[in-house]
Amino acid sequence: GGCLRCLRSNLLTLLTVAGVVLGAGLGFILKSVKEDWTEREIMYVNFVGDIFLRMLKALILPLIISSLISAIANLDLSLSGKIAARAIVYYMLTTVLAVILGIILVTTIRPGDNSDDTTSQNEDEVVVDPFTQKGTTADTLLDLVRSMFPPNLIEACTKQHRTLLTRSKSTPEDLPIELWKVGSESVDGMNILGLVVFSVIFGVTLAKIGEEGRPLANFFQSLMSAMMTITTWVIWLSPVGIFFLVASKILEMQDIVETMSQMGMYFVTVLVGILIHGFVFLPLIFFLFTKRNPLKYISNMGQAIATAFGTASSSASLPVTIQCLENNNGINKIVSRFVLPIGATINMDGTALYEAVAAIFIAQVKKVSLSVGQVVAISITATAASIGAAGIPQAGLVTMVMVLDTVGLTAKEVTLILAVDWLLDRFRTAINVLGDSFGAGIVDHLSQKELQNLHNKPKEAYDNKS
Ligand code: ASP
Repeated sequence: GGCLRCLRSNLLTLLTVAGVVLGAGLGFILKSVKEDWTEREIMYVNFVGDIFLRMLKALILPLIISSLISAIANLDLSLSGKIAARAIVYYMLTTVLAVILGIILVTTIRPGDNSDDTTSQNEDEVVVDPFTQKGTTADTLLDLVRSMFPPNLIEACTKQHRTLLTRSKSTPEDLPIELWKVGSESVDGMNILGLVVFSVIFGVTLAKIGEEGRPLANFFQSLMSAMMTITTWVIWLSPVGIFFLVASKILEMQDIVETMSQMGMYFVTVLVGILIHGFVFLPLIFFLFTKRNPLKYISNMGQAIATAFGTASSSASLPVTIQCLENNNGINKIVSRFVLPIGATINMDGTALYEAVAAIFIAQVKKVSLSVGQVVAISITATAASIGAAGIPQAGLVTMVMVLDTVGLTAKEVTLILAVDWLLDRFRTAINVLGDSFGAGIVDHLSQKELQNLHNKPKEAYDNKS
């Protein structure tokens, strides 16, 4: 009886995780039946997956704005300051830990030593517009700060901040076209970082003006409740949606055997790093702070992790992540709704680790020897690049340009790692989401006393049952 009940409550998680495995299985079967799938055919296979993704994407914008504003407006300012500080410290420390782990692995395994340099040795490159396409570290850092301050909020809801990399309209001759495409596509998204910054400021303002802020705080809280209810419905689609997302992605894949034999060691280095970080380091840190069972915690996040893997987007997974944290792991709603939108946007451990490994891998292939200072520079820019990467597919590849520039390599060099990036992207996104989830758990644990006091104050009571 008991086991059946626990099976039923975990059924959706099980089905969702099975969706990844079965989807990959179907993909490989279809791929072995027929080698070349046209774009149109792949589109048909992915139709259901695409609908699922569109539903998740529709939730992102109202969810991020309402969750941040309502959570912060319902806290008193000193407590929201403490919660934010705890979250930021966790984000920074775990990101740096991931970078260090990546650097240790890539310098001991040295995956680049036996790899061939596959980039074309084209001496007479046509540089169309050196300013817009060089993508220096300083430019990218300024871009990151710029995107935090959207001049037009409506536009921030529909467009990414245009980076120097994507600002030019001409075909970039010194840039791999794939990289340019990824960068340009992300322009159609939204400037989530800018919206997060504004929502935090807005929430703080509502808390500050007190009584007068109540109607708006209530408005956003009720919007958040509505969004979370829609999320519970959309989640029922996730096993099927993820199944088709993964299957169609396998159909798109080209000569996996060949690329794996060329870049296998690089792939393995990133993967091992990501797995050690997500399944050894983070669980240990989580256990030390909370004394809770990390394995149970991870399995409760199963749906969110599977969604991250299926969509390759932390932002698209956000509704599912919040749902899992609140319903399966019992995280206080005020904490999850405050720290998760921020975490999904800036805390990317998997991406940070990958940026460091990839940059050093490229240097190894190019036979560029790095000084200690340069390795330190890589670790700093890799951290910044992970903060700057949007929670969308392959955003890390675009911000990689900044890391490469610190050691004198150019954007062109990302061609070396392009072939497997779509697959690594899925693994790093899953770890990004897992890292956010552990963070929320730790912050929740550390803030429990203060949150209880908050509940005893009737006036500012936050309806935790909403
Ligand atoms: N796709 C990743 C994410 O959404 C970002 C990256 O490209 O590393 O978390």
